[in-house]
Parts: sequence; C-alpha cells; structure tokens
Amino acid sequence: MGHLGQNILNYELENGVNMCCDEDCSKNEINTTLIQYAVKDLLTGLGEDINREGIIKTPLRVAKALCDGTRGYSQSAKEIVEGALFPEAGVDNTKVGHAGGVGGLVIVRDLEFYSYCESCMLPFYFKCHVGYVPSGQRVLGLSKLSRVTNVFAKRLQEPQRLADEVCFALHQGIEPAGVAVVLQCTHINIPDTVFDTNHKGLVETLVSSGSGVFENKDADMWGDVFGLLKFRGIDKDKVHVKGSLDQYWCPSLSSKIGEINPIMVTAVSSILKSLGEDPTRKELVGTPSRYVKWLMNFQYCSDIDGKLKLNGSPWSGEVNFDEKEVHSELNLPFWSQCEHHLLPFHGVVHIGYFISKGCHPIEKSLLQSIVLFYGFKLQVQERLTKQIAETISPLIGGNVIVVVEASHTCMVSRGIEKFGSNTATIAVLGRFSIDLAAKTAFLESIPK
Ligand SMILES: [Zn+2]
Ligand SMILES: [Zn+2]
Repeated sequence: MGHLGQNILNYELENGVNMCCDEDCSKNEINTTLIQYAVKDLLTGLGEDINREGIIKTPLRVAKALCDGTRGYSQSAKEIVEGALFPEAGVDNTKVGHAGGVGGLVIVRDLEFYSYCESCMLPFYFKCHVGYVPSGQRVLGLSKLSRVTNVFAKRLQEPQRLADEVCFALHQGIEPAGVAVVLQCTHINIPDTVFDTNHKGLVETLVSSGSGVFENKDADMWGDVFGLLKFRGIDKDKVHVKGSLDQYWCPSLSSKIGEINPIMVTAVSSILKSLGEDPTRKELVGTPSRYVKWLMNFQYCSDIDGKLKLNGSPWSGEVNFDEKEVHSELNLPFWSQCEHHLLPFHGVVHIGYFISKGCHPIEKSLLQSIVLFYGFKLQVQERLTKQIAETISPLIGGNVIVVVEASHTCMVSRGIEKFGSNTATIAVLGRFSIDLAAKTAFLESIPK
C-alpha cells in the first residue's frame, strides 16, 4: 500500500468513517457542506454568534443529522426485499382455511421509528404494525418489513403517504395476496406564541393502507389485523379516512405566518434541495417559512427584565433554616430547542423554595414566565435548570431547588433512537444544597 493509501487507512481507523472515492460519496460531502452554510444563516438570523463555543459545531451536527435522517432518499426498498424471499409451502389449496406462512396473515407489530414532517421539518415519532398474506409459496424475512418501513420513514413525510408508500413497496416486492399497514403517529404540538401555556402537547393520528385482499377498508381480512392489534388499544373506527388528515396533523399548518426573514427561508429551501427533495413540490412550498417561524420562537434575547416584570428587590443575607414549609410549584410546562442539534426538547419544571424574611411567595404565573423565558432560546437542559434557579434565588432569599424533566427529540432522531427516554436535571442553591432532608422531601413530592 502506498503512502496515500496508508493515510486513508489511518483516517478510517481514527474516524471510523468509510472513505470511498465514488461519485455518491463526494456528492454527499458537497451536500453536507451546503447544509452547514445554510444552518449558519439560520443561526445568524436567530441573533446567535456562530462562533460561540456551544454552537460552533452545530452546523456540522445538524447537517449530519439531517442527511442521516433522510437517508431513505438514496435507498431502495426493492433491493431489500429481493434476496429475502424464502419458499414456504402453506395450506393445500384444496383444503379449507389458512395457515401461517402461506394463506394466513403474518403481522409484525410495534416497530418504532421516527420520520421528518414534510410540513414543518420537525421529527415525528410513529409506531408501525405491518402485515401481509403470503401467496405463491413465498414468505419474506421478517426483519425486512421493518427495513422497508424505515426506507420511507427516512424521508420528509406525511402519515398517510408514508403508509401508502410502505404498502405499495411491499406489495410490489413480495407479490403477496395483500399488504396491511397501520401507523400510530405522534407529532409535537408547537405553541403558537412564546408565552402560550395552553398548547395541547402532542398530536396523534392513526392511518392505514391496504393492498390486494386489504384494498377495501371494510374487507374481512382487516378484522384479523385489528383483532391482533386490539391489545394495544387500537380501534379500527379511529383510523383516519384517506384525504381527511391534512387539517388535523401538523400543527404548523394551522398557524399564521407573519413577516419572515427571507435569508433564513432561502437557507431552508437550500437544505431541502441538498437532502434530495424538490422544494417546489406542492406539499413543501410553505415548509421553509413554517420551519423558520418555529425557529424564531427561540430567537436570542439576553434581557429577561424586558420580557418579564420581576417583582421584589434582590435579597442578600444568611441562609434561613427557620422556615419549615417548602413552597412548591410542580409541572410547569416548557419548550426549548437543543443548541447542539437544533431540535426541540420539552417537558416540565418543578420548583421548590423557602422564603426568607422580607421576601414573599412568588406567583405561579411569574414562575411560569421565567421558565418559558429561559426555555425559548437555543439551550442545553443543564443550563436551563441553572438559569431558572439563579433567577428565582434572589427573589426569595437564596434557597431554591429546580428539577427539569424533558424528552429530547435529538435522542430519538440522532441515530440513538431511544424511544420514550427522559432526561432529568437538578439545580440546588442555598439551604437545599446542605439540608438533605429538605431536598429529599421535595424530590419525593414530584409526581411520577
Ligand atoms: Zn409538522
Ligand atoms: Zn441535542
């Protein structure tokens, strides 16, 4: 091996990257670079300093995450299915009935994925149940149902189209008697304004798609599918009828878009292009503006007093051990945007404090405003927790505990794909850092 070859080998060993010199690879590199430029424009539009330590690598992380999260554009479902079909004799045609394998339903349930919403570019989570009725004495390797689903999940999607594409690809590949796909999709609901605490949390929808013996929604064969899904609380009557979904699904579609920074919109369009999408596709035309609108919720703002009227004067004195009662405010909702991946994290904040002489209890609405203020910026959860504690501390005399519980979209969509995980962080100031009993009592008061 020559000198250059050795260098490449070292590079591979150090970086765990497969260096290849074909056309696809350099095209990917160009796309990643273009996305990084676009992300820099977005960060600048948010008023951020793109050289700030916390976010200096954000453009690269976002570009890699987006390329990885939409890798389905360069994958082929056909290739996955071909070579994974196995001969399997079923019930003899002359006998009455069906048997697993051939003639009877095969269904894989509870496959978990995330995809990107084509309307707002935020990731959405879905649980997939996919089945088919084999014919021609051929069955498909079961893992392929999951892999084919993921090819279409890793594109910008909408639930019904996703279900239809998975169904169509499997039908073409397996040539079975029919394919049935049921998707339970969950989209985060975007609060319309920074101080909107009445948002609905999550938007859920159930869609299905069927081919062959499942083509007709009322076909008897669907009875088998839903019979097997019943334990999961999935009700056939709750499945959306095709074409009725648009007004229910992505919350960004129903919110008004005001003035939007055109440079940021152009940046998002160029990202769509780099990912292999057509930004002029009908469903994508408004996507850049909607994404920028969401992002602008997290515009940089250093001045809390300008947004909130903080009452009470800063307190300076000794740590007070007289107070017996912990004042607490639990489950204050918040939204934030991870500054490493430009992806949302959201959850609840629990605050406990003792009041020192000369201070007053804090109104719940003020605590909520403080939580929302620090949430609505590019953040990391640890810093959010600390900032909330440090803002409350002088108002009540220094003894405060703050717990933040959050789910991070980046945990599921950055390759880790740990669904349903939750991160908790804690900040303690004053008495709570030495009075173990007070801290424990507060932590125990947090509802599960
Ligand atoms: Zn959306
Ligand atoms: Zn993150």
